[in-house]
Formats: sequence, structure tokens, C-alpha cells
Amino acid sequence: MSKTYELSCDCGHVTMTAYDQPKLSLHCHCGSCRDLYNVDVLSATGWAHENVDLPDESKLFVHKVDGKQMTRYGCPKCGLTLYGVHKPGIPVIPHGLFRKANGGTLPQELAPTLHLFYRERVLDINDELDKCDDGSAVGLSG
Ligand SMILES: [Zn+2]
Ligand SMILES: [Zn+2]
Repeated sequence: MSKTYELSCDCGHVTMTAYDQPKLSLHCHCGSCRDLYNVDVLSATGWAHENVDLPDESKLFVHKVDGKQMTRYGCPKCGLTLYGVHKPGIPVIPHGLFRKANGGTLPQELAPTLHLFYRERVLDINDELDKCDDGSAVGLSG
């Protein structure tokens, strides 16, 4: 039996589904994620295209950062970010959506495994996960 995650934004206008398991789950400290998501650290999962049913783009707002191959999609009504598409082209879904769908806690099987681009951090993290200076551990360049 594969897992199914039913995700939605805060107001319920947009829903999407993720299946099975993500390719990766991590904390990203890169400046691009900071710019794109307006957070100090982006905690998120990355999914293969065949494992997510993304909402129709016409239902979403689209936010691009100038000069970066990254796009963020969110609900135009409540403003919540649903997912982003980053350089290698995979959909990236913030942990917050899975927490929301799981009564406020991140499902255990989605626990992040490492910190990426830690040298670009604005926040020091004190945990036992690996801190990678860049994204080469998962095949990403800066
Ligand atoms: Zn909404
Ligand atoms: Zn990043």
C-alpha cells in the first residue's frame, strides 16, 4: 500500500495530492529559497512528477524570482505557498502542508535528512543532521 497525502491551502481553494514517498526531504539554507519563500530556512520535500497531482496552474498565483530558475505557486485567496519548481525541475512542497494534513506534526516518514547550502545560512541550527555546504549531496548546484 502506498501512502497518499491530501494537501490543501489554508482556505481550501486549492488542493493537491502526493503519493508514496518524496525523493528528498531537507532544510535548504540557500539565498534563492530565502528570496522565493520569504523564510530563513526552507523545510521541504522534493517529489518526482509522477508522485504528485499538482493543481491546475490557472487556479494559482505564480511568483518568479528575477534571474533564477525557480518559481513558486500559491493560493491567490489565502496566499499560502503550495509548491515551488526549482532548477532540476522537480516540485518542492513545503513541510508545512504535510503538517497541516497530519494534525500539526510532520509525518515521521517525511523527516528531513540533511541541511543543504548551510554555508549560505542566516540561522545556525543545532541538530544531529548532516550540514552540507552546498547542494552537491543531492545533485544540485548553487
Ligand atoms: Zn487558499
Ligand atoms: Zn534552497
